[in-house]
Amino acid sequence: MNFEEKKIDRKSISGWGCNLHAKISEINPISIKDLQNSIINFNESSVISRGAGRSYGDAALLNNGLIIFLKAFDHIDLNVKKKRVKVGGGVSIDNLLKIIIPKGFFIPVSPGTRFVTVGGAIASDVHGKNHYLNGSFGNHVIEIKLVDGLGQLRTLSLNKDQNKEARNQFWATIGGMGLTGVVVEATFSLIPIQTSKIIVDTFRYKDLDNLMDGMIQAQKKYQYCVAWVDSLNQKNRGILTCGNHATLENMKTKKNLEEPLKYESKSIASVPKIFHNGVLNKYTVAAFNKFLYRKTPKIKRESFQSMEAFFYPLDGIKNWNKLYGKRGFLQYQFVVPDRSSQVILESLEILRKIGVPSFLTVLKRFGPCNSSFLSFPQKGWTLAIDIPLTLPNIELTLLKLDLKIAKAGGKIYLAKDSRQSSEIFYKTYPRIKDWKLIRDSLDPNNIFCSDLAKRLGMF
Ligand SMILES: Cc1cc2nc3c(=O)[nH]c(=O)nc-3n(C[C@H](O)[C@H](O)[C@H](O)COP(=O)(O)OP(=O)(O)OC[C@H]3O[C@@H](n4cnc5c(N)ncnc54)[C@H](O)[C@@H]3O)c2cc1C
Repeated sequence: MNFEEKKIDRKSISGWGCNLHAKISEINPISIKDLQNSIINFNESSVISRGAGRSYGDAALLNNGLIIFLKAFDHIDLNVKKKRVKVGGGVSIDNLLKIIIPKGFFIPVSPGTRFVTVGGAIASDVHGKNHYLNGSFGNHVIEIKLVDGLGQLRTLSLNKDQNKEARNQFWATIGGMGLTGVVVEATFSLIPIQTSKIIVDTFRYKDLDNLMDGMIQAQKKYQYCVAWVDSLNQKNRGILTCGNHATLENMKTKKNLEEPLKYESKSIASVPKIFHNGVLNKYTVAAFNKFLYRKTPKIKRESFQSMEAFFYPLDGIKNWNKLYGKRGFLQYQFVVPDRSSQVILESLEILRKIGVPSFLTVLKRFGPCNSSFLSFPQKGWTLAIDIPLTLPNIELTLLKLDLKIAKAGGKIYLAKDSRQSSEIFYKTYPRIKDWKLIRDSLDPNNIFCSDLAKRLGMF
């Protein structure tokens, strides 16, 4: 069967923010050979891989183009002795956790949803609540199998037998937003765990200064830290949640030890259709935020939480992204260096002035960056805020913020982005020029492209 026969009719897809859409055709290769043949026989303008579609904007969109789904690349091969796993690029973190948690392992870096694929995690070089300690996903990748723009299967790693070009191709693929080729398989290290529980301490802060100070102290003591900010509150009060993996010793005090490595994957609820018109506004979110803040004690120590509750609270509600209504929303996530930490407060104030009703404003600490050319994390503070597109003057406000962040030495996360300009991108991702040269060696005919790449003029 050739590639033309496998295509299905054009359909419309969007990013997680439901704000940008694309009419696409899709292919679902069933093997590496099949994928290589598709790429070699390829006769349309361009193509891009798509994992679980959890990037918010246009990273996994290509209007009038072809999307490659990697569902068939779903093998999981756990090496207990070496504490590593080899998986297909289409494997979801959720399916991986179902296998590795009962065997006493966890992934070294996890994003805030388990419904992402390993291919997507590598392409965005995702970070978790432990970047200050463990870096991003790419830091733990041992080997990548990539089908490039010529249909060649390459093995990329940092092994001693790899030359400089191959090492550069490895780092160009990590954080490369699917534009260097298709990740068909990856091997990465795991961390051993004794239980599937996290011992959690929670702290409530009445303003941003105290919250940020609390985070700096907490990162010395905890493996994971994340702060929720009540961005509709004048003082940006917030809640800091910190956790460590619980050991069997820690669990002795708990009665139920029959299944210390239990992992459950299910959604509790789904957003009913009547709420798809957008129930989140300044008033409903302010009420929700107030409730959340007030119900949280000033300090709560040593509560035992499941992995699901601690790492993936949002996954409990299916389709929560529909709550912002038909026009959708964007998530504005940026990072600024420590020397520019005041930009966090300034940004929150600017966004509050226009009444951004975000129930999920999240602040995290980043440690040093890795060697990836386009990876987002860099040492400092990162803030993520959800913004519905119904707000007046939102674009003008965000343009001002873009400039502020660029001036401060920061940048906007490509996996969340759907609107920054090419100028801001080039200014804030200075290694783009080197990345382009390496990408050329992997995809000289520019087979791989996305709406994000077009918007930012990445090549
Ligand atoms: C609720 C929620 C919470 C999140 N929390 C975090 C977080 O804490 N930290 C964080 O870093 N991110 C976070 N994200 C963003 C998410 O982790 C990234 O967007 C991730 O890339 C999504 O993976 P995916 O499989 O859905 O990929 P998609 O969204 O489908 O694609 C994302 C990019 O990966 C590329 N890609 C996908 N598969 C492959 C492949 N096999 N080969 C090559 N390229 C490929 C695509 O071309 C695209 O450029 C969150 C997203 C959501 C919805």
